[in-house]
Amino acid sequence: MSGKFIASLLLFVLGFTFSCLESRAQANRTSTTKKPIPAAEAAPEIGFTVSMPKPSTHLLEIEMHLKWPEGRKVVDLKMPVWTPGSYLIREYARHVQDFKALDAKGAALKWEKINKNTWRISGEDLKEFVVTYNVYANELTVRTNELNDSHAFWNNAALLMYPAGHLGAPSQVTVRPFGKWKVATGLPPVTGRENIFKAENFDVLYDSPFEVSDFVETTFTVRGVPHRIVITGEGNYDLKQMAVDASKIAEEGAKIFGSLPMENYLFIVNLRGGGGLEHLNSTALQFNRFGFRPRSQYIRFLSLVAHEYFHLWNVKRIRPDALGPFDYENENYTKLLWVAEGVTAYYEGLLLERAGFITDQEFLNGKSDLIRDLQTRPGRFETSLEEASMDAWIKYYRPDENSINNQISYYDKGEIVGMMLDIEIRTRSAGKGSMDDVLRYLYNEYFRKGRNYTPEEFQKAAEKAAGVSLEDFFSKYVRGEAEIDYNAILGGIGLQLTRTEPNKGKAYIGAFTADEGGRLTIRTIPAGTPAYEQGLNTGDQIVAMDGHRASQAFLQTYLTEKKPGSKIKLTIFRFDKLQDINFTLGSDTRPEYEFEPLSQPTILQRRLYRDYLGGETAAQ
Ligand SMILES: [Zn+2]
Repeated sequence: MSGKFIASLLLFVLGFTFSCLESRAQANRTSTTKKPIPAAEAAPEIGFTVSMPKPSTHLLEIEMHLKWPEGRKVVDLKMPVWTPGSYLIREYARHVQDFKALDAKGAALKWEKINKNTWRISGEDLKEFVVTYNVYANELTVRTNELNDSHAFWNNAALLMYPAGHLGAPSQVTVRPFGKWKVATGLPPVTGRENIFKAENFDVLYDSPFEVSDFVETTFTVRGVPHRIVITGEGNYDLKQMAVDASKIAEEGAKIFGSLPMENYLFIVNLRGGGGLEHLNSTALQFNRFGFRPRSQYIRFLSLVAHEYFHLWNVKRIRPDALGPFDYENENYTKLLWVAEGVTAYYEGLLLERAGFITDQEFLNGKSDLIRDLQTRPGRFETSLEEASMDAWIKYYRPDENSINNQISYYDKGEIVGMMLDIEIRTRSAGKGSMDDVLRYLYNEYFRKGRNYTPEEFQKAAEKAAGVSLEDFFSKYVRGEAEIDYNAILGGIGLQLTRTEPNKGKAYIGAFTADEGGRLTIRTIPAGTPAYEQGLNTGDQIVAMDGHRASQAFLQTYLTEKKPGSKIKLTIFRFDKLQDINFTLGSDTRPEYEFEPLSQPTILQRRLYRDYLGGETAAQ
C-alpha cells in the first residue's frame, strides 16, 4: 500500500523532538488471465447495480442479480473480510444492512446468516433471484468506502458479495451515479453501455475500486498505454505538471521491464485522508489537498505515485506465494511482504532518482534517516523481516506502545535490506547484475509463466544476479535479526556510513511523550532507556518536574538546564494515584547517520557507484 506515504506522528522524546511511528498504507492484486480460478460447477450469471440516491445517508444501495444454469436449494453469499494489499481482517460485513432476497416474481425468499460474513438463501428451486442490501459507507481510507455529498469512493471487496465457490465467475457492475457525477474505475466498460462495467472474475472485480464524483481529470500516454488521473477535491495541485511527472515515473518503470504490463491505467486521487493502495490497473491515492507545494511536499506525492505504480509489477504480477488467487475469508500468510512492500518502497526512491526528481544525495539522505530509525529500534533484535511479514495480520496495522521494542516494519527494514541487497549483488557481480535483474527475472520466469514465487525462489533469483551464494546475507538479514554490517556492504560502491551522536552530553529521559488533554503523557518507552530502566510506564501522566507544572515545552527547556546524571523529582499520575519518582537523567546517545564517500575509492567502486546512482562517489 501507500506509495511512500508516511503518516508521521510527531511525538516528543523527553529531550527533543523526534519523528516516530509511521504507517504506510498499501494493497495488491492478482494476475490477469494467467491463472484462472477453477470453477467447481457451472457459474451463475452475476450482475450488480450500485446506487447512491441519498448521499447524506452514507448508504450505497446494492442489487445483486443471480441466474443459475440449474435450480438449487441453497445459495451462500459471502462478503470478503479483507482486501488485498492491506493485510488486516477488516470485517466488511459489519457495514451490511437491510438485506433482502426475492425470487423472479418478487416474492421474498428465506435467508439466514450462518456466520459473520455469509448469508444463506434457501428455496425449492433457486435459479434466478435478486438480493438487495445497503452498505454503510462513511470512512475514507484507501481500503474502505465513503459516500457523502461530495463523492462516492469504494472498494468492491468492501461492498459486493460473491457466491460461495464461484470466485472465478465473471460479473457486470452497473453504477447509477448521484446527480451528474461521473464514474471512474479500472474495470473495462461494456461496449456501448454507459456506466456498465465487466469483471472477468472476482479477483479482478475486487481489485478495481470506483470513484464517482464531479472529479477533474487529465490523460496521458506512456508507451502507447493510456493513463487517466481523476481528482476529487479542491487543492493546490497543477494537473498538467502532475501528468508530465507521472508519465516520467511510468517510463522509468517501463525501462526496467521493457514494457508496461496493462492496457490502461487509472489514478484515483482523493484530496483527503492519506496513503495509497495498489491495484491491477489502477491505484487509489489520498493526499493532503494543499500538500502539493512546496516542492519537498510535492516530492512526497510523487513518491506515493511511484510506490503504487511500481506495485504494477512487484506484487500485482510478481506475486508472493500466498498472494493470489486470494482467500477472501481468511488471512493469507506470506513471508515475502518485505519484498512486496519493502523492495517497492526502495524502488519508489530509485524511480524518482532515475527520473531526475531527486539527486543521488537526496536519495541517500532519505535512507540515512530510515537507518537511524531502525538502529534506534530495540525490536530489530526480536523480529526478522520474514517474521514481520507473516505477522502483518496481527501486528503491522495494530501498533501499540510496545511495538518499538518487539517489532520492525517490513516496509522500512525491507527498504533498507532491499538497498543493501542491490548493492551486494552489484558488488559481487562486479556490476553485471542488480536488483533490476532480480525483478525482471521474477517477472519473466514466474508471472509470465503463471506462477507465484517462494522465499527460496527469491533468494535463488538474487543469487543468480549476484553470481554467488547469498546465504549468509539472507540468513542474517532476512531470516535472522543480525545487526546489519552496513559498511561491509557499502564499501563495494565506494560509500561508507558514518555514525555520530549529535546530542551526546545532553540530559535525556528516553520516553516518547505527548500533551494529551492538557497532561504530559508517556506514550512509548524504548527498552534500555533511562525511562525503561527506572520504571516509568506508558500511560503515566507527568504532572510536575521538581515542583514545576510539566508540559512538552517546559520539559524540553528544563532538560537543557540539566546535565546527565542530575536527579529530578517527577510527580506523576499512574492510573488514579499521584506519586513522586526520583529520577536520574541519562545521556542522549541516540545516533544520526550519514553516507559519505570512501576517501580513496577504487576504479571499480567508482564505476559501480556511477552504475547505481549515476553520479560520482568520492571527494574529487
Ligand atoms: Zn505498497
